[in-house]
Amino acid sequence: MDAAARDRTSTTRLHVRVDGIVQGVGFRPWVHRLATSAGLTGLVGNDAHGVFIEVQGPRSVLDDFLDDLQHDPPPLASIEEVIVTPITPREECGFVIATSRDGGERDVLVSPDVGTCDDCLAELWDPADRRYRYPFINCTNCGPRFTIVRGVPYDRPLTTMAGFTMCAACSAEYHDPADRRFHAQPVCCPDCGPALALVRDDKPVPGDPIDTAAALLANGEIVAVKGLGGYHLAVDATNEGAVTRLRARKRREERPFAVMVASLDTAAVHAHLQPAEADLLSDPARPIVLVARRDPDGLAPGVAPGNRSLGLMLAYTPLHHLLLAAVDRPIVLTSGNVSDEPIAHLDDDAFTRLDDIADAFLTHDRPIHTRTDDSVLRLVGSTPVPVRRSRGYVPRPITVPWAFPDHVLACGAELKNTICLARDHRAFVSHHIGDLENWETMQSYLAAIDHMADLFDVRPTVLAHDLHPDYLSTTHARDLAAASPNLHIVEVQHHHAHIASCLADNRVTGPVIGVAFDGLGYGTDGTLWGGEFLVADLCAADRVAHLRPVPLPGGATAIREPWRMAASHLTAAGVDARHAAVAARHPEHWNTVIAMARTGTNAPLTSSMGRLFDAVAAVAGLHDAVSFEGQAAIALEQVVEPHEPGRYHAPVIPGAPTQVDGSAMVRQALDDVANGASPGLVAARFHNGVLGLVSRMCDQIRDDTGLTTVALSGGVFQNALLVSGCVARLRQAGFTVLTHRQVPPNDGGISLGQAVVAAARARAGW
Ligand code: ZN
Ligand code: ZN
Ligand code: FE
Repeated sequence: MDAAARDRTSTTRLHVRVDGIVQGVGFRPWVHRLATSAGLTGLVGNDAHGVFIEVQGPRSVLDDFLDDLQHDPPPLASIEEVIVTPITPREECGFVIATSRDGGERDVLVSPDVGTCDDCLAELWDPADRRYRYPFINCTNCGPRFTIVRGVPYDRPLTTMAGFTMCAACSAEYHDPADRRFHAQPVCCPDCGPALALVRDDKPVPGDPIDTAAALLANGEIVAVKGLGGYHLAVDATNEGAVTRLRARKRREERPFAVMVASLDTAAVHAHLQPAEADLLSDPARPIVLVARRDPDGLAPGVAPGNRSLGLMLAYTPLHHLLLAAVDRPIVLTSGNVSDEPIAHLDDDAFTRLDDIADAFLTHDRPIHTRTDDSVLRLVGSTPVPVRRSRGYVPRPITVPWAFPDHVLACGAELKNTICLARDHRAFVSHHIGDLENWETMQSYLAAIDHMADLFDVRPTVLAHDLHPDYLSTTHARDLAAASPNLHIVEVQHHHAHIASCLADNRVTGPVIGVAFDGLGYGTDGTLWGGEFLVADLCAADRVAHLRPVPLPGGATAIREPWRMAASHLTAAGVDARHAAVAARHPEHWNTVIAMARTGTNAPLTSSMGRLFDAVAAVAGLHDAVSFEGQAAIALEQVVEPHEPGRYHAPVIPGAPTQVDGSAMVRQALDDVANGASPGLVAARFHNGVLGLVSRMCDQIRDDTGLTTVALSGGVFQNALLVSGCVARLRQAGFTVLTHRQVPPNDGGISLGQAVVAAARARAGW
C-alpha cells in the first residue's frame, strides 16, 4: 500500500466547530445520522458557541462526511462557518450526542420561529395520531423558537416550556436520535403539554375551545387569539359589521387589516398571486405579504378600505390551522393592541388591555417570552422587500463581510423602531418594537435591549444613536452614556444611517451615491431632511443635493394634515392658490397656514420627499388628513395611471449643495387639477417627475464624482412603483443599483445603519 492510500484508510479524528443557526433546528440528530450511516464514531454536542463535533474514521469517509455537513444541512439550519482541526484518535465505539455544555462566551444563534411543517400537519389531521388536533404540535423543523427562549444555550429549561414535564412517550421521542422530535425543545402532547382554553367574561367556557371560538367568529364576534409572538384580534373577514366593530373598538380608523387564510388556494381566491408571492406566503417564516387584491375580492370592504393591495398570510401555528378549518372562511388577524400600543403578549396584560375590544379569548398556558409582531413583506420586481422585519426572521443576524471591532448597541430611530446589537461579523437587528411614543413601547424597547444583549452576549462598548435631540432613543442613549462614561458615543445622521443600512444589506462599503427619501429626519444643520442625495460610505456622508426646503406649517400637525404641505409648497412656488379646490376645502385655516409658512412661525424647514408626496396627494384631492404617516403617499402610488407618459419638471438650482425645486411639481399638479385631470393622471405625472429627478441628479453626481453605484433607502422607497422605476432607469443609464432585501428601507432599518457606521468609524480610528 502506498503512502497516499494508507493516508486515506488510516484512522483520523477531527474536531469540527460549526457556527451559524445550528441549535434547535435538528442539527445534532442529523449529524448523528450522517456519522452513524457512514460508520464513523465520535460525538456531537451544543455549547455556548454553536455545535462541536468529534468524528473518527478513515480519512476518505471523513471527507465525504465534511462535504455533506456543509452542503446538505437540515432545512432550518444556516451554517456560517466550519472549522476543522485534526486531534488524536481514541478508542471508542459508536457515535453519541453529548449533553449541552454551558459557560464561556456565548456565541450561539437562536432560530426564528417557524411555521408548522407538513409532517406535523399530517399528524394534526390524522385521527390515529396521538397528537390528532393538538394545537401545540411541533418538531425539530417547526414551532416556536425565539418567542419562547429565555436564555442560551437553547435547551428546554431556558424556554417557556420549562414548566411542562415531558410524558414518557414525548421523552422517548425527545431522546431518540432517529426521531423527528429528537431534542425538539418545545416537544409536547395532549398528555403533557400546554392546553387551550376559551375564556369569556373571565370564565372558561366549557366545550371544545376551537369549535366555540369558530362559532363566535361565524357569529360576527371578536375573538382575541394567543399566537406565537402575542395576542391577535380575529374577526370573520367577510362580515362587514364585525370588521367595522373591530375598527371602532381598536381605534384603528383607516389602516388596512391583515387577513389569514388556510391555504394558497384560498389566498388565490382573494388576490392575484404571482408565483414569487405564493412562494413567499408559503415560506417557513410565514410573513404577511402585500398582494394585489381581486375585484371583487369576496372580503368585507372595511378590511382594507381604499386599498388596491391586501396583506395576506397563511396559517402558521397548529392553533391557526385548527381555527381556520373550523370557521371555514378567511379571518382578519390584527395585532392585539389599542391604536399604537405594542401588541399584548402576557396573559394578564392582554386580558386587561383587550377586555374592551374582544368578546372572548382563545388562550393557552405556554408563556410568550418575547413580544414579536408578524413580519410584512412586499415583492418589488422579483425581490421580496421587508416592510416590517419581525416574527420568522428575527433574531437571524445580518452577516457583514467586515468585523465589528467592538460590541455595538445602536439605538435606532423613533418610528418603527428596532435596535441593533453587533459583534464580530454579525448584526442582530431586533424585532419590530414600534413607535417610541408611549411608556408601554419604551418598556418593550428596554426589555429588547437587555434580552438580545443577553442572548448574544453583546456587552456594548460603543453606542450609536440618531442626531434628533427629542427622540426617546436619543434620550436613552444619552442616559446610558451618562451612567457609563467609558462608552464610546457615535452620533449618526438619520439619512446617512439609511444609506449605510442599504450598504450593509448588500454587504458593500461604498462610497456610493445615496438617495435617501423619507418622511423626516434630523439634519446636521438642525433642519428636517428627507429628500437627500448623499455621497456616502460607511464612515461619512456628504450632502451633495436635496429638495429645496419649505416650511412644515404647524410642525407635527402638518404630518397629519397633508393639505398644509400643499399650502406650503404652493406658497414656495409663488402661487396664489386661494381659489383652488384644495384651499376651498379649508376656508378657515388656509390663510393662517399660508401666514405660518411665510413667517416661519411654528414652521420648521424641511426638504422631505415624503411631505412632497403628501402635498401632491392633497392637491390631487386624495387625502387632506391622514390617520398614519405615509397614508397619503400610499394612496398616491395606488391610483397611478399605468401608461401615462407625461411628467412634472423640478428645476435644478445650482449650488453647494444643489437644490431641486419640488414645489414646482406641486404647482404643475395644481394646474392639471384645475384643468380637470384625474388623481390617477396627476399621480402618474408626479411619479414620472420624481423618477426623472432621481436620474438627472444621479447623472450629475456621477459626472462630478465618477461614482457609478446608487443606493436607494428611506421609507419613500417602500413605494414599489418608485423603486422599480428608479432601478430600471438607473440600470439603463449604466448604474449599479442597491436596494433593500434583509432590512426595511424605512426606519426599521436605521439601527443596522447606525451600527455599521459606528463600526466603520472605530475601524478608521474614530
Ligand atoms: Zn414539524
Ligand atoms: Zn407528551
Ligand atoms: Fe427615515
